[in-house]
Amino acid sequence: MGSATGQRRRVVRKDAPARAFEQFDYVEYMAQHGHEEVATYFDRETGLRAIIALHDTTLGPGVGGTRIRRYASSAEALLDVLRLSEGMTYKAAVAGLPLGGAKAVILADGEEERDSALRAARFRAFGRFVESLGGRYITAEDVGTSPQDMAQIRQGTRHVVGVPREDGGSGDPSPTTAYGVVCGVRALVEEALGRSSLAGARVAVQGLGHVGMSLAEQLLRDEGAVVIAADVRPEIVEEARTRFGGEARFSLVSPDEIHMQECDVFAPCALGATLNPITIPQLRCRIVAGAANNQLADEDRDAALLQERGILYAVDYVINAGGLIHVMQDLQARGAWSEIDEAEVKTRTSHIYETLKRLLALAHEEAISPHAAARRIAEERLRGARGGVRKNKRSAANANARA
Ligand code: NAD
Repeated sequence: MGSATGQRRRVVRKDAPARAFEQFDYVEYMAQHGHEEVATYFDRETGLRAIIALHDTTLGPGVGGTRIRRYASSAEALLDVLRLSEGMTYKAAVAGLPLGGAKAVILADGEEERDSALRAARFRAFGRFVESLGGRYITAEDVGTSPQDMAQIRQGTRHVVGVPREDGGSGDPSPTTAYGVVCGVRALVEEALGRSSLAGARVAVQGLGHVGMSLAEQLLRDEGAVVIAADVRPEIVEEARTRFGGEARFSLVSPDEIHMQECDVFAPCALGATLNPITIPQLRCRIVAGAANNQLADEDRDAALLQERGILYAVDYVINAGGLIHVMQDLQARGAWSEIDEAEVKTRTSHIYETLKRLLALAHEEAISPHAAARRIAEERLRGARGGVRKNKRSAANANARA
């Protein structure tokens, strides 16, 4: 009996990778979601494992940050990069930017955390991978990466933004993303609570990383809001305590309870899928408006759940477009970032307020969710551009025929 069980176990182990592979038919997923290309890379010398997904380059080159994370499997990493790249297409389309949607993930193994020279070498190798796509993909920071990593990537490619300011780049776009969230929150507070100021508004910030910490700071210092915050990393909690501990309008709670806080705005600024059928019924807020990408575990289902509960949802890729607007300005600055670019990026990012107002008006008129309204605006712009691309191709073909 013991050996029979052992044999069965061995068979299961042998089949497991093949079955796991079969479970996620990524080519079918790409076809269903309209992805153009997925490129994978393994660097023999450094052990770098990375994936780049290009979702839609109709409006311009695919832009999106590089995320580094320890994934449970390559299938999980692949699904993450596919979902994130699609979000970037809609983000650029709604923000009116001439950019396409793309994203990259690096599959961390922990070695790069222990060895900074190895980390640098992996990012240089990643730069060569980005270069191999010939400018169809432009990278930037995302969760786990920094301007210093971008500087390493730049040794292998020109197609990177967000390198440190001292090297002529625009630095970390996170404060701009946070500023865009503040502008968006103003629009939603006006709509849902009929208030034109954020003074005294209670905001629960989930995740105090690059964006969340800056968001907490801007809300406390510039807006007079009340901030309740949480992070899973003790050292980050400690940093927040040092920075804002003296502030009466600031408090910290456990990460398990942050979404349950009684507040005006719940701001997810950690990882994706924190809004789902378990957490949505536990929310005690009027508005969900934060920086995290892919906040809804299942977009249509969870947008409907939020609407049923009368919670106004800012649509992640609309309210968190500040980082992408920053990146666009960096592309225009071409390595000579100045105060003029800084001011311009702030003005452009402040338009997230008007974009959200327009989106909410459309949702109201058509009796659809903000999520559906955002999708409609993005798809109309993409359809218009695709028509334009086809027309341009036709007139070029006619001109060639005439020549
Ligand atoms: P980050 O890694 O610096 O911060 C994320 C923080 O969330 C970390 O401090 C982490 O410890 C914390 N965290 C993780 N799980 C948590 C949980 N369950 N509860 C509480 N805290 C948790 O990343 P970031 O650059 O600040 O980005 C945050 C989110 O915003 C991501 O989803 C990112 O994709 C999105 N985003 C970032 C930018 C940008 O400019 N950085 C732009 C657009 C979107």
